[in-house]
Amino acid sequence: MSREVLLATAKAVILEGLVVSPWGNLSMRISKDSFLITPSGVDYNTMQPEDLVEISLAGEIRAGKLKPSSEYHLHLEIYRARDDIKAIVHTHSPYASAFAVTRKPLPALVEDLAQIVGGDVEVSRYAPPGSEILAKNAVLALGKKFAVLLANHGVVGVGRDMEEALRAVRVVEKGAKIALFAKILGGAVLLEPEEIQTMHDFYLNKYGQR
Ligand SMILES: [Zn+2]
Repeated sequence: MSREVLLATAKAVILEGLVVSPWGNLSMRISKDSFLITPSGVDYNTMQPEDLVEISLAGEIRAGKLKPSSEYHLHLEIYRARDDIKAIVHTHSPYASAFAVTRKPLPALVEDLAQIVGGDVEVSRYAPPGSEILAKNAVLALGKKFAVLLANHGVVGVGRDMEEALRAVRVVEKGAKIALFAKILGGAVLLEPEEIQTMHDFYLNKYGQR
Protein backbone atom coordinates (compact mmCIF):
# COMPACT_ATOMS: atom_id res chain seq x y z
CA MET A 1 0.00 0.00 0.00
CA SER A 2 2.66 2.49 0.97
CA ARG A 3 4.42 1.94 -2.34
CA GLU A 4 1.27 2.85 -4.27
CA VAL A 5 0.74 5.98 -2.16
CA LEU A 6 4.31 7.05 -2.86
CA LEU A 7 3.94 6.47 -6.62
CA ALA A 8 0.62 8.31 -6.73
CA THR A 9 2.16 11.29 -4.91
CA ALA A 10 5.10 11.31 -7.35
CA LYS A 11 2.63 11.52 -10.23
CA ALA A 12 0.75 14.32 -8.48
CA VAL A 13 3.83 16.53 -8.08
CA ILE A 14 4.57 16.17 -11.82
CA LEU A 15 1.00 16.86 -12.83
CA GLU A 16 0.84 19.95 -10.62
CA GLY A 17 4.09 21.30 -12.05
CA LEU A 18 5.88 21.19 -8.69
CA VAL A 19 8.87 19.51 -10.31
CA VAL A 20 10.06 18.38 -13.75
CA SER A 21 10.37 14.58 -13.84
CA PRO A 22 12.64 12.84 -12.95
CA TRP A 23 13.96 15.58 -10.65
CA GLY A 24 12.75 15.87 -7.11
CA ASN A 25 12.39 12.85 -4.86
CA LEU A 26 9.95 11.37 -2.38
CA SER A 27 10.22 8.96 0.51
CA MET A 28 8.13 7.29 3.15
CA ARG A 29 9.14 5.73 6.47
CA ILE A 30 8.05 2.08 6.46
CA SER A 31 9.48 0.89 9.77
CA LYS A 32 11.18 2.25 12.87
CA ASP A 33 14.53 2.16 11.11
CA SER A 34 13.96 2.27 7.36
CA PHE A 35 12.28 4.18 4.57
CA LEU A 36 11.39 3.77 0.90
CA ILE A 37 12.72 6.32 -1.58
CA THR A 38 12.29 6.99 -5.28
CA PRO A 39 15.12 5.69 -7.50
CA SER A 40 17.59 7.94 -9.28
CA GLY A 41 16.61 9.26 -12.73
CA VAL A 42 13.50 7.14 -13.30
CA ASP A 43 10.53 8.93 -14.87
CA TYR A 44 7.64 9.19 -12.39
CA ASN A 45 5.13 8.20 -15.06
CA THR A 46 6.75 4.84 -15.71
CA MET A 47 8.02 4.11 -12.20
CA GLN A 48 6.93 0.76 -10.74
CA PRO A 49 6.35 -0.14 -7.06
CA GLU A 50 9.38 -2.48 -7.12
CA ASP A 51 11.61 0.37 -8.37
CA LEU A 52 11.50 2.03 -4.92
CA VAL A 53 14.61 1.52 -2.81
CA GLU A 54 14.55 0.69 0.90
CA ILE A 55 17.27 2.41 2.96
CA SER A 56 17.98 1.84 6.64
CA LEU A 57 18.51 4.73 9.05
CA ALA A 58 22.12 3.55 9.22
CA GLY A 59 22.31 4.62 5.56
CA GLU A 60 22.51 1.18 3.98
CA ILE A 61 20.45 -0.09 1.07
CA ARG A 62 18.21 -2.79 2.42
CA ALA A 63 16.21 -3.72 -0.67
CA GLY A 64 15.75 -2.70 -4.27
CA LYS A 65 17.56 -3.26 -7.56
CA LEU A 66 17.94 0.36 -8.60
CA LYS A 67 20.18 3.17 -7.36
CA PRO A 68 18.36 5.37 -4.84
CA SER A 69 17.77 9.06 -5.48
CA SER A 70 21.04 10.99 -5.33
CA GLU A 71 19.37 13.15 -2.67
CA TYR A 72 18.89 10.25 -0.23
CA HIS A 73 21.12 11.87 2.42
CA LEU A 74 18.54 14.63 2.75
CA HIS A 75 15.79 12.12 3.55
CA LEU A 76 18.01 10.04 5.81
CA GLU A 77 19.09 13.02 7.94
CA ILE A 78 15.53 14.31 8.32
CA TYR A 79 14.24 10.89 9.47
CA ARG A 80 17.18 10.63 11.87
CA ALA A 81 16.46 14.07 13.33
CA ARG A 82 12.66 13.91 13.42
CA ASP A 83 10.84 10.89 14.91
CA ASP A 84 7.52 12.51 14.09
CA ILE A 85 8.17 12.58 10.35
CA LYS A 86 6.92 9.69 8.23
CA ALA A 87 7.09 11.14 4.70
CA ILE A 88 9.17 13.64 2.72
CA VAL A 89 8.47 15.32 -0.62
CA HIS A 90 11.23 17.31 -2.33
CA THR A 91 10.26 19.50 -5.29
CA HIS A 92 11.65 22.37 -7.38
CA SER A 93 8.46 24.42 -7.68
CA PRO A 94 8.99 27.78 -9.44
CA TYR A 95 7.49 30.40 -7.10
CA ALA A 96 9.07 28.90 -4.00
CA SER A 97 12.33 28.58 -5.90
CA ALA A 98 12.28 32.35 -6.45
CA PHE A 99 12.69 32.67 -2.67
CA ALA A 100 15.30 29.89 -2.65
CA VAL A 101 17.47 31.62 -5.26
CA THR A 102 17.24 35.00 -3.54
CA ARG A 103 17.89 33.15 -0.25
CA LYS A 104 15.04 34.99 1.42
CA PRO A 105 12.75 33.15 3.83
CA LEU A 106 9.14 32.85 2.73
CA PRO A 107 6.98 34.53 5.39
CA ALA A 108 3.99 32.63 6.80
CA LEU A 109 1.47 35.15 5.48
CA VAL A 110 -1.59 32.98 5.14
CA GLU A 111 -3.51 30.57 7.35
CA ASP A 112 -2.76 27.28 5.60
CA LEU A 113 0.98 27.93 5.40
CA ALA A 114 1.11 29.11 9.02
CA GLN A 115 -0.88 26.08 10.16
CA ILE A 116 1.09 23.41 8.33
CA VAL A 117 4.63 24.80 8.28
CA GLY A 118 4.50 26.48 11.67
CA GLY A 119 6.30 29.71 10.72
CA ASP A 120 8.38 31.30 7.97
CA VAL A 121 9.91 28.83 5.55
CA GLU A 122 13.63 29.28 6.14
CA VAL A 123 16.33 28.92 3.49
CA SER A 124 19.07 26.46 4.39
CA ARG A 125 22.70 27.37 3.73
CA TYR A 126 23.83 26.53 0.23
CA ALA A 127 25.48 23.17 -0.41
CA PRO A 128 25.84 21.10 -3.60
CA PRO A 129 22.87 18.87 -4.52
CA GLY A 130 23.13 15.31 -3.23
CA SER A 131 25.76 16.19 -0.62
CA GLU A 132 25.74 15.26 3.06
CA ILE A 133 26.29 18.94 3.88
CA LEU A 134 23.10 19.84 2.05
CA ALA A 135 21.27 17.29 4.20
CA LYS A 136 22.73 18.62 7.45
CA ASN A 137 22.06 22.26 6.50
CA ALA A 138 18.47 21.38 5.59
CA VAL A 139 17.87 19.69 8.95
CA LEU A 140 19.23 22.77 10.76
CA ALA A 141 17.03 25.20 8.85
CA LEU A 142 13.99 22.92 9.07
CA GLY A 143 14.07 22.67 12.86
CA LYS A 144 10.66 21.57 14.09
CA LYS A 145 8.80 22.99 11.11
CA PHE A 146 7.23 21.13 8.20
CA ALA A 147 8.96 22.75 5.23
CA VAL A 148 12.29 24.27 4.29
CA LEU A 149 13.80 25.92 1.21
CA LEU A 150 17.14 24.74 -0.16
CA ALA A 151 19.28 27.67 -1.37
CA ASN A 152 19.32 27.91 -5.20
CA HIS A 153 17.58 24.57 -5.39
CA GLY A 154 14.01 23.94 -4.22
CA VAL A 155 11.57 22.93 -1.53
CA VAL A 156 11.33 20.14 1.04
CA GLY A 157 8.01 19.30 2.68
CA VAL A 158 7.75 16.82 5.52
CA GLY A 159 4.74 15.23 7.16
CA ARG A 160 3.31 12.76 9.62
CA ASP A 161 2.03 10.98 6.51
CA MET A 162 2.48 11.34 2.75
CA GLU A 163 -0.63 13.46 2.35
CA GLU A 164 0.72 15.98 4.85
CA ALA A 165 4.16 16.16 3.18
CA LEU A 166 2.46 16.78 -0.18
CA ARG A 167 0.22 19.39 1.40
CA ALA A 168 3.32 21.13 2.78
CA VAL A 169 4.99 21.56 -0.62
CA ARG A 170 1.66 22.67 -2.10
CA VAL A 171 1.04 25.41 0.48
CA VAL A 172 4.64 26.59 0.23
CA GLU A 173 4.24 27.03 -3.53
CA LYS A 174 0.88 28.76 -3.08
CA GLY A 175 2.27 30.95 -0.28
CA ALA A 176 5.26 31.94 -2.42
CA LYS A 177 2.94 32.99 -5.24
CA ILE A 178 0.85 35.10 -2.84
CA ALA A 179 3.94 36.70 -1.30
CA LEU A 180 5.27 37.68 -4.72
CA PHE A 181 1.99 39.19 -5.89
CA ALA A 182 1.58 40.97 -2.56
CA LYS A 183 4.92 42.64 -3.22
CA ILE A 184 3.55 44.09 -6.46
CA LEU A 185 0.56 45.45 -4.53
CA GLY A 186 2.78 47.23 -2.06
CA GLY A 187 3.72 44.47 0.37
CA ALA A 188 1.89 42.07 2.68
CA VAL A 189 0.96 42.73 6.29
CA LEU A 190 2.80 40.17 8.45
CA LEU A 191 1.09 37.95 11.00
CA GLU A 192 2.23 38.12 14.62
CA PRO A 193 4.49 35.18 15.63
CA GLU A 194 2.05 34.25 18.44
CA GLU A 195 -0.79 34.13 15.93
CA ILE A 196 1.21 31.77 13.70
CA GLN A 197 2.10 29.55 16.66
CA THR A 198 -1.54 29.33 17.73
CA MET A 199 -2.60 28.31 14.22
CA HIS A 200 0.15 25.70 14.01
CA ASP A 201 -0.72 24.23 17.42
CA PHE A 202 -4.35 24.06 16.41
CA TYR A 203 -3.46 22.30 13.17
CA LEU A 204 -1.15 19.79 14.85
CA ASN A 205 -3.47 18.88 17.69
CA LYS A 206 -7.05 19.73 16.88
CA TYR A 207 -7.48 20.08 13.12
CA GLY A 208 -9.71 17.71 11.13
CA GLN A 209 -10.47 14.26 12.49
CA ARG A 210 -7.18 13.72 14.33
ZN1 LIG B 1 16.40 18.69 -5.84
